[in-house]
Amino acid sequence: MIEFIKEMEKYAEEENIPIIERKSIDFINKLIEIQNVETVLEIGTAIGYSAIMMALANEKVKITTIEKDEKRYIEALKNIKKCGLESRINVVFQDALEVNMAGFNYDLIFIDAAKGQYIKYFDKFQYYLNEDGTIVTDNIGFHGLVGNKEQAGSKNLEKLVEKIENYIEFLKNNPDFVTKFYEVGDGLSVSIRKEK
Ligand code: SAH
Ligand code: MG
Repeated sequence: MIEFIKEMEKYAEEENIPIIERKSIDFINKLIEIQNVETVLEIGTAIGYSAIMMALANEKVKITTIEKDEKRYIEALKNIKKCGLESRINVVFQDALEVNMAGFNYDLIFIDAAKGQYIKYFDKFQYYLNEDGTIVTDNIGFHGLVGNKEQAGSKNLEKLVEKIENYIEFLKNNPDFVTKFYEVGDGLSVSIRKEK
């Protein structure tokens, strides 16, 4: 299994697929354990790496993960099958902003798709979160560029950094959730509902 994980990491690097950093997934796995998380919704599967890492580390956990890119979706299915995790990881091939999963709720929602759409994901998927659930977002630091967007080097990248900065502001000012930010990996945020 360790060999296969390394293979996925190598594939991701070669194909330029931004999979989560080891430190970040370790952090999330600890959170899953401490909070007794049983159901996870992930936005942004890529090749299934983070979903597989969560499922391997936590026997109880069931994961639904959404991916809109067909090639990655197929690669993810293949990888999940190789690990024998088909019964615990369900991959949905669709744009997360178009998905309708009314009736389902999750203990943990992990946002890790298009950086420019973070606010939209949060606004939509908060309604799929259990009462004591947690929303985790990856790449909050964006390679050290958040807060230093003049170093981005291109207008496009600068715009993206700006969007993440807006997301951070959105989280800080959110009336319903309280958020902590962690400098682990590429930066993670952890949001839970405020007490009423
Ligand atoms: N969570 C993965 C990495 C995801 S990379 C891991 O750590 O292993 C981000 C992925 O989100 C990409 O594969 C991209 O195709 C997908 N994505 C981007 N916007 C999306 C959307 N609106 N709906 C579903 N998937 C999306
Ligand atoms: Mg990420």
